Amino acid sequence: MKHLKGSCLCGSVEIQVPDNFHFIGYCHCSECRKWSGSAFTSGGLVDSADFQITKGEESVSYFHKSEETDLAFCKNCGSSLFSKKLKRGKSIVRLGILNDAPSQKPSTHIFVGSKAPWYDISDKLTQFDELPQGSSFSEVSSQTLKPLARICSSLASSACFRAALAISMPESAACWD
Ligand SMILES: [Zn+2]
Ligand SMILES: [Zn+2]
Repeated sequence: MKHLKGSCLCGSVEIQVPDNFHFIGYCHCSECRKWSGSAFTSGGLVDSADFQITKGEESVSYFHKSEETDLAFCKNCGSSLFSKKLKRGKSIVRLGILNDAPSQKPSTHIFVGSKAPWYDISDKLTQFDELPQGSSFSEVSSQTLKPLARICSSLASSACFRAALAISMPESAACWD
């Protein structure tokens, strides 16, 4: 499988992920804005087992935001790198640190209800005020849905996306930081 490489601003830290995110999207919540210093974060979710720090592990610091989430940054240059979803075995990679272009594109905006008032979303991607809730696919096994979720996360279908999210983060209460 193709892999994507990424690095921080100063180059101390390098990472690698498969070019196969469970989903990719934008989070507009106030915490993501603080964390990124921007209007929103761009994140791609992978299994932590598939995510590798290939250089500079000693330069990575973690802010323990909550019981669910550690936020990783470069202690030399301050670049926001990725988060670890501690109870779910997932990592969310900041798309801005990638040196290679992922083959998927962001499909969704979440926490649009609390977005920065000075920022207007001008694309046609699916928007959710908070997180997508529930899934009409919940009776189907996640084994069946995993390939589907990968496909539909690139189709910007909200029903499909709810299924993808339900699979990847079943008791999801947190954002994509
Ligand atoms: Zn750095
Ligand atoms: Zn967020």
